[in-house]
Amino acid sequence: MKSLKENFQEANIFIIGSGIIGKFNALELSELGFQVTIIDPTQLQNSSNAALGLLMGNMYQKRRGRSWDLRKQSIELWPQWITFLQKFNNELNIEKPLIQLTTNEEKFKKLEKFVYENNDPTLQILERDSILIKNINKAFQTKNIQGMISFKDGRINALSLLQTLDKYLKHKKVNYLKGEIIKIRKSNNQWICTTRNNENIKSDIVILCNSLKAVDLMDQIPHNIKLKPVLGQAIEVGINDSKVDLLVLPKQFNINGKNIIPISKNKLIIGSTDEYSTKPEENIFEKITNFLDKKPTWLIEGQVTKKWFGVRSRPDGEPSPIMKNLGDGLIICTGFYKNGILLAPTCSKWVANEIKNYFS
Ligand SMILES: Cc1cc2nc3c(=O)[nH]c(=O)nc-3n(C[C@H](O)[C@H](O)[C@H](O)COP(=O)(O)OP(=O)(O)OC[C@H]3O[C@@H](n4cnc5c(N)ncnc54)[C@H](O)[C@@H]3O)c2cc1C
Repeated sequence: MKSLKENFQEANIFIIGSGIIGKFNALELSELGFQVTIIDPTQLQNSSNAALGLLMGNMYQKRRGRSWDLRKQSIELWPQWITFLQKFNNELNIEKPLIQLTTNEEKFKKLEKFVYENNDPTLQILERDSILIKNINKAFQTKNIQGMISFKDGRINALSLLQTLDKYLKHKKVNYLKGEIIKIRKSNNQWICTTRNNENIKSDIVILCNSLKAVDLMDQIPHNIKLKPVLGQAIEVGINDSKVDLLVLPKQFNINGKNIIPISKNKLIIGSTDEYSTKPEENIFEKITNFLDKKPTWLIEGQVTKKWFGVRSRPDGEPSPIMKNLGDGLIICTGFYKNGILLAPTCSKWVANEIKNYFS
């Protein structure tokens, strides 16, 4: 009888979709010794490339249930993966802390209750008279912003992360194919995935990481998975006010649900929207900058210097994300409508366990 290790080395795993979820699964599985192939027709135009990279784990206010468990595991796994990936890019890092702010008194009271009840030294309330809050209020020309700081949460540069994963996958000689899968079927104990060019790719395991399109490949497989598109837009805004220096603000923060990342003295990124469509809404500046009752003058006069979007998939009728073993060597990881970057290591760990069990 072959050992588990021999089984791994001989097993072929085929990953459909090379966003963060596909790439992270490829990373974890090739580290385990599997032969991994990954396919995607347009790997640069997915939602992962649009992500702001905020890792909002520890500041999540519900401390039980699946969502919290997934986050908790991710917070533990990320530092280990960062150390590992730094061998391929020593600048890759999680920029901490992360700050969550609100102008709503009731929401602030909830944050206060959460912080006091959790008694976690990495979470702290930012009082109105703290220097940080004073700077933020001054920059946003208001008096009403307050919130909390999480020293365990932060931001990873999503583009740099994806490029680092590419470097790793190349180094590991992971087979990277450009193409679109249009059909999958099982025949003689093997999966056969057919590309649009009518090529057949055989494998022992198939992992569907192709977001919204995953269900299109499941017409011959019984399931009740429903997904809907949720488009997210982000903008880079340039400001023209010499009295304002955006670099005095924290490196990443969130005000009333909008994420803000100052990138220079006079430029910042703001994101993102939730649009239930596949076409981006026009004139997004108004909507995305509408996170305060009264905008600061520099923001009213700001100019959009860049904008981009990504279409995510949201499960319909069940919670996000969908990570299911459909049996017979078919696994689906989709519906990462939010937090796909944060949750990628937890997803890949779960997939690895399912596959180990399949071969044992
Ligand atoms: C503006 C914006 C900001 C965001 N900010 C954050 C953030 O701060 N933090 C965070 O954690 N998350 C954030 N997200 C969410 C995050 O981007 C997603 O959760 C994550 O990217 C989902 O990854 P994925 O791999 O499932 O999907 P995708 O990145 O969309 O990848 C799916 C891939 O499958 C491929 N594919 C589709 N069909 C096929 C087929 N038939 N054959 C082969 N390949 C196929 C596609 O080409 C695509 O490359 C943000 C998203 C947006 C849009």
